[in-house]
Amino acid sequence: MSGNAITQETITHLIQQALQARRHSYAPYSDFQVGAALLAADGTVYTGVNVENASYPAGVCAEKTALSKAVSEGQRQFTAIAVAGGHRQEDSTALRDYCPPCGVCRQFLSEFCAASFTVITARSVTDYRTYTLADLLPCSFEKRQLDRTSGAEV
Ligand SMILES: [Zn+2]
Repeated sequence: MSGNAITQETITHLIQQALQARRHSYAPYSDFQVGAALLAADGTVYTGVNVENASYPAGVCAEKTALSKAVSEGQRQFTAIAVAGGHRQEDSTALRDYCPPCGVCRQFLSEFCAASFTVITARSVTDYRTYTLADLLPCSFEKRQLDRTSGAEV
């Protein structure tokens, strides 16, 4: 569990953005609301939420929404993402648990994010964990493995 050098202020800001975005989650089937805030290398933050569908597999995760928004606007380099999702604690405004990115999202992030990219999973602004993408997705499948001219080394 280690992140690269992003400031405490940046972490706090990203968690706030993720919690704020979570309010727009569309999760009528699971009631599992997730918000994400993705920091691009130029300092722009892109938020995303999970968007469910009556045909369950058609739904999309918050992280995927945020990254798709950013890439569709020309961004290709990213520093960190904060994810806040799930149910609230009964006696608190904090979330019950940390919500790490699912396996598909880890792979989706790895297309554009370096091994040192920081992933923050937050229950509240003050209660969070940080990881690198390499912590969460060791031995990822990468574009170099699709190269026809050289053997893939793992
Ligand atoms: Zn996901």
